[in-house]
Order: sequence, then C-alpha cells, then structure tokens
Amino acid sequence: MKEPTLGNPQNTIAVLQKYHFVFQKKFGQNFLIDTHVLDKIIRAAEIGSDDCVLEIGPGIGTMTQYLACAAKKVIAVEIDRALIPILEDTLDGFDNVRVINEDVLKVDIAELAEKENGGKPIKVVANLPYYITTPIIMGLFENHVPLKSITVMVQKEVADRMQVGPGTKDYGALSLAVQYYAKPYIVANVPPNCFMPRPKVGSAVIRLERYEEPPVRVRDEKLMFRIIRASFNQRRKTLVNGLNNSPELNFTKEQIGEAVTRLGRGVSVRGEALSLQEFAQLADIFSEIQ
Ligand code: SAM
Repeated sequence: MKEPTLGNPQNTIAVLQKYHFVFQKKFGQNFLIDTHVLDKIIRAAEIGSDDCVLEIGPGIGTMTQYLACAAKKVIAVEIDRALIPILEDTLDGFDNVRVINEDVLKVDIAELAEKENGGKPIKVVANLPYYITTPIIMGLFENHVPLKSITVMVQKEVADRMQVGPGTKDYGALSLAVQYYAKPYIVANVPPNCFMPRPKVGSAVIRLERYEEPPVRVRDEKLMFRIIRASFNQRRKTLVNGLNNSPELNFTKEQIGEAVTRLGRGVSVRGEALSLQEFAQLADIFSEIQ
C-alpha cells in the first residue's frame, strides 16, 4: 500500500492546477489541507484493518488515502464528475478503494453496506458538504444503515446542536434525533485556515457512536419524531400550540393538554424544555389516546 501524498497545501495546489479544477460552491467544496486534522479524524474514527468505511465526498482523495491505509475497504461517493479523473490519479495504487460517482442522497447505503460488507456494520467518515449535513446524517440513521459510528467534519454550530440538552438555544429536533440513535462526542474544533478555500464558518469534528439499543424506550418511534418535529417547528409557541398546529398530528387541543398534564408538565411548557425521555413518554401517552 502506498503512503498518503496529499493533505498539505502544496500538493493540493499541484493536483488542482494539473487538472485545472474549478471549485463548485454549490457542492460545498472545502478541501482539507492540514495533516494534523486528518490524523485526528482517522484516530477518532478508530479505523482498523477489518473495517469497511464509507466516505462521503472524497474531493481530490486526500482523506481517502489516509482511510485506505487504515481500513480493509473504502467506498467513496462523490457527486462531482470533474473529480473522478483526479481521484483515479490520486488513488492509483490504493487498491482497496472503490469510487462511486453519485449523489449520496440518492444511493441506497443499506444495500451498499450489504453488498460491500456482507451487511456487517460500516463506519462513516467524511468532511461533509455542509449544505446537506442533516439529511445525510438523518438518512443514515432513519434508513437503518448498519453502522458502528459516524465521524464527520461539520459546521461548528451544527456539532454543538447535535450534542446539547434541553433548555439551551441550540437544542432542537436534530439534537434529539442524533441522541436517540447515537452518543455524540466533539473530537476537535477546526479553524477555517485548515481548508482550501476557507469556509466562512468554524468547523468541528464530531463522532457519533451508534447505540445498539436506543437510550429510551418508545412504542411508536415515528410518532415520537412527528411530535419532536412539531414541538420545534414553532419555537416561540408553547408545546400545546405547536402540537395543535402541526399538519402531521391529529389530536384535539384538549387531548394535547391532557397528555402534557399526564406527563407532569404545565400546559404553558415549551418543547425545548423536554428531555428525550419525556418526548418518549409523551409519545407513549399519545399512542394510548390514538
Ligand atoms: N473529503 C474532501 C476533503 O476533505 O478534502 C472534500 C470535502 S468537501 C467539504 C465535500 C465534498 O463532498 C466535495 O468533494 C463535494 O463535491 C462532495 N459532495 C457534495 N455534495 C455531494 C453529494 N450530494 N453526494 C456526494 N458528494 C457530494
């Protein structure tokens, strides 16, 4: 296996110039140019020689080279056709990598994991395109992709949202969804100068370790997530009004008031005050009413 050659500004610029590559803003292209950050990501992802890794958005293949050296197999899904000949070049000699030129949101990742890893859990590692962070992460969880962990670079603010609890301004549907499926842990904050071109926002690497069993029990998971979405859709409203106004739910205002009271909360409580455990209890109460 070859050693990684990319990850510093000089070699990245050389590759970009060789192929006259033009950055596409619409694809959220900010390439990593810091080997310390790359080492940190690989270490945090705990990649071993038995692991099958899915990389979303390999770019010119910088992190892909590092992953290839650590893993058994790497599947890299890249949307930008212009990057494919570059990847063929930079990943030449890294024989355990398969590049797929697709929009990751259109790929059936559960099927891919079945085909490439016999249905055994995979690890996802990526410097994500920030414009689709939430649909990518929620898609992986909700479609029940067999997963060990997700270790990704995201916008700093989004990393914060994933790991905060009730009563904070960043707490919301994303926090609850992530914390239902996984244990979040911020590995490192990463400043804009570690990327080319520099993003306008700060970034962070977050590791989400998939629970084998969710930390709370709920009879109807889908109903709980409908309730969570409705609770945060109208942040300034009370929980009762938020649930009453939701097109996704069909309970009367009286039923909602009764459910919130049975939960042991006053009718003026806001959704942002409830813990995951309380949302699970509330969903169970509504399941009984239904
Ligand atoms: N991994 C590279 C690195 O760290 O230098 C590039 C990371 S860059 C932030 C995001 C990458 O995701 C880009 O290569 C971009 O073209 C790709 N991308 C954007 N949208 C995508 C999509 N829907 N499906 C697959 N790849 C996508």
